Amino acid sequence: MIIKTEKEKKILYEAGRRLALVLDEVEALVRPGATSAELNSHAERRIKEMGDVPSFLHYTPAGSRRPYPAGLCVSINDEVVHGIPSEERLLKEGDIVGLDIGLRHEGLFVDMARTLPVGNVSKEARDLIFITKESLEAGILAAKSGGYVGDIGAAIEVVAKRGKLGIVRELGGHGVGEAVHEEPYIANFGKTGTGEKLIDGMVLALEPMLTLGSPAVVLGKDGYTFRTRDGSLSAHFEHTIIVTPDGGEIVTC
Ligand code: MG
Repeated sequence: MIIKTEKEKKILYEAGRRLALVLDEVEALVRPGATSAELNSHAERRIKEMGDVPSFLHYTPAGSRRPYPAGLCVSINDEVVHGIPSEERLLKEGDIVGLDIGLRHEGLFVDMARTLPVGNVSKEARDLIFITKESLEAGILAAKSGGYVGDIGAAIEVVAKRGKLGIVRELGGHGVGEAVHEEPYIANFGKTGTGEKLIDGMVLALEPMLTLGSPAVVLGKDGYTFRTRDGSLSAHFEHTIIVTPDGGEIVTC
């Protein structure tokens, strides 16, 4: 989507504000002993209470055979993205947990994710989380109108490489606003000055997924959960942004 009116911009920012609020609440529930289903129930309930729609619930991504069964993705440790919430899945001290969430407010879609430590985690895990967040910030700064999609990937790649982390290559960011996923696809690596041109007002979801080990991923039997092939930890951060001449403006905050 490309934002063309002040009204659209206002709706998008309100959507982002609401989504960040819900994710803050879910974050407060993260603790050893919490189930991933509990986090999801809270997220779905709060989005509906506000009169909005959890946009991941019943969404069928391209290539999937069944709709996603929850409003929140909960991906623990070596799970990279799209972990399905479950009553049986308990968070434990030392885990890291990725929370990915989306909503539709007055017809517009926003999307965001964070990875959090559960209690005390290893220094390696803390660094992974910190650097992944930093790589997203670098990508956002690079999302300037007049630039190119490759500028974003290149900026993310620099931070990941400096941190000696793997970059998941099969998954990436995307356009958003009028649908859960739109063009362009945004790889988390690349070359500056390549790919689609970035236009003022473009709405994008940037989402680096980095790993402590090999970046190779495998898709689980549930058809949704991606995990690292070598079992190494993975982190994921995401914001919905609007492209401006000075870089991305964060909508989901
Ligand atoms: Mg996304």
